[in-house]
Order: sequence, then C-alpha cells, then structure tokens
Amino acid sequence: MLLELLVRPNIRDLKPYSSARDEYKGVNAEVFLDANENPYNQPFNRYPDPLQRELKDVISPIKQVPASNIFLGNGSDEPIDLLFRIFCRPQIDNVVAIAPTYGMYEVCANINDVEYRKVQLDQNYQMSADKLIEQCDANTKLIFICSPNNPTGNAFPRQEMEKVLNAFQGIVVIDEAYSDFCDARPFRLDLKKYPNLVVLNTFSKAYGCAAIRLGMAFASEQIIALFNKVKYPYNVNALTQNAAKEVLADMDMLHHRVVMIKKERELLISAVEKLPLTVKVYPTDANFFLAKMKDADAIYNALVQKGIIVRNRSKVELCGNCLRITVGTKDENARLLAALRTLKL
Ligand SMILES: *Cc1c(COP(=O)(O)O)cnc(C)c1O
Repeated sequence: MLLELLVRPNIRDLKPYSSARDEYKGVNAEVFLDANENPYNQPFNRYPDPLQRELKDVISPIKQVPASNIFLGNGSDEPIDLLFRIFCRPQIDNVVAIAPTYGMYEVCANINDVEYRKVQLDQNYQMSADKLIEQCDANTKLIFICSPNNPTGNAFPRQEMEKVLNAFQGIVVIDEAYSDFCDARPFRLDLKKYPNLVVLNTFSKAYGCAAIRLGMAFASEQIIALFNKVKYPYNVNALTQNAAKEVLADMDMLHHRVVMIKKERELLISAVEKLPLTVKVYPTDANFFLAKMKDADAIYNALVQKGIIVRNRSKVELCGNCLRITVGTKDENARLLAALRTLKL
C-alpha cells in the first residue's frame, strides 16, 4: 500500500500549524514566555501537551500498543472525521461500510461531502468480505467495519475481516468500541501485520468515561503522523488527560465492572427472552443487545412513560421491531424487567 497515493494531495503537501511548545525540544525549560499564556491561575493557565505523551505512556502497556502507534482525540468522533479529511476528496472519493452500523460514519461522510456506500449484512447480521470488496472502485479510500457491531451487538468472524484487510488497497477502519466485552482477539494487536489498518477504541464504554470525550485510534506510525498533522493542536484538554490517567490507575476496578456488566448481560437476556412481548434476542458480544419484539414502538413508548429509555431501532434496515437495550446496574435492569412484565399492550 502506498500511503502517499491514498492521502489527499492538499494534506500530503500541508505545512502543519506549529505551536509554541513544538518549537523547543530536549532542554529543561523553566520559564515559559512563549505562548502568550497568563502566568497566574495554575494549573489551568498552561496549554496542555499537544501529543498527550504522559497519557499515551499509561495507555500503551494497557492496550499493548506502542505509544508511537496511538492517536488520542475528542471521542472516537474525532479520528472518524479526521479519516475523511485526510483521505477523501469531497465529491470525488467514496467509502464503503457495512449496514446497519454506527451512525457517525455516514454523518461524517455527508459532512465531508463524500459518497457513502452501504453493504447490507445478511439476515443473521453477518458481513461478507466479498460484498464489501465488490462495492469498491479506484476512488474508494476507506472501508468501515464495526465489530462488535452497533446496533446488532455481534462480533464478526476474524477470517472475514482479515479477508478485507488483505484484499483492499485502501484503509480498513475496524471500530472496536466494544471489544472489552468480547472474547475475540482485538485487531489492535496486529497492527504490524496490516499497514492499512486503523483500529478505533474509546473511553466511553468499558472505561465508563463518556463525559470526558476521549477516543483512541491505533495505526502505523505513518498514519498516526497524518492524524497529528491535521488535528487541532490542543485537541485533548488537560482535564480530560488527567481524568484518563486517574481512571487507568485502577485497572482492577475497570475489569471488575466489565465482568459485572457481562454477568448482568446474561441474566437480563435470559429474562427478556422469556417475556411474552419478545420475539427473539440476537447474540451479542457488547454491553447491549438487540431484541426483536412483537411491537417495538408500543413497548418503547410505554417504557418512556415509565421513565425508562431504551433505543428504538425499529426504523433501521434489518432491525424491524427491534429495541437496543444497554445493560445497566442490577437495580436498573430489575426496573426495566418489572416495567416490561407489567406492560398492558
Ligand atoms: C459508542 C461508540 C463509540 C464511541 O464514540 P465516542 O465518540 O468515543 O464516545 C464509537 N464507536 C461505536 C461503534 C460506538 O457505538
């Protein structure tokens, strides 16, 4: 793969913004009069590290990815948007994605005026590498695969995703936002094998930090350099960097919570499966599941009346009469079940 040929010419030739802090290196600086900061109001007066080096050094051993292969952004939304801005020429290039899947890929494509080609999963929500490849042409820059997939919940067979990585000449984005809830080997461990791979992770799900807006992308150093060239200079603020370091200091707690959620997931699914309102629950590898109901709209509305909100996916292709239910605490799940058991429809 020749990255030079994939990248938009304006990005390849871009002279990136150089911040005050970029311009000195390797000295033990003590007096900072270079960035027009206010000398008072510590610690908020100083610009944060534009490359989040300390935080990446904490993340690296946890994710088993070298710090030089990590990009951090304002949620996963940032690397998703950057991928379009780096690789896709508006009105010329296109991207291919499975459907149904996470809505942000299509929104970002539309914002960037890039054609978005959907390839439907089959009735069992399985993807076909051949069908994805068939939709590609010389202007296809990105393929999006989300595994475990949102909203269907299932992870795809590794073989099928490897087939796409091997066959496609552009960038394959594998969104593993939910991989902590799944037993499959995550693709971020195989970056060396696939120079065209970008893996997305997030602090919003298994790490319980949706509020701090921190997303991760793992890729080759060349692709990371492109992300860094195009991103806003101080894209991750100091409060977020510090909060992330704090939660990662207690990985035992984070793992314990994932274990609890997985246990609750099994209990909740077997209870929902037994309800007369339920047609079926689809297999899941995430912290949510998709349930086909007899009348999803009516159940959704009745739950809203009781102050319980699930996601109504019944208008999504292949998801007729489906609700997407996130696994909550034991108490929240019990309240959902109690409400479902007393619904009079
Ligand atoms: C929730 C989710 C994310 C997380 O997005 P953030 O911007 O990091 O909060 C990413 N991808 C998928 C598929 C998701 O469902």
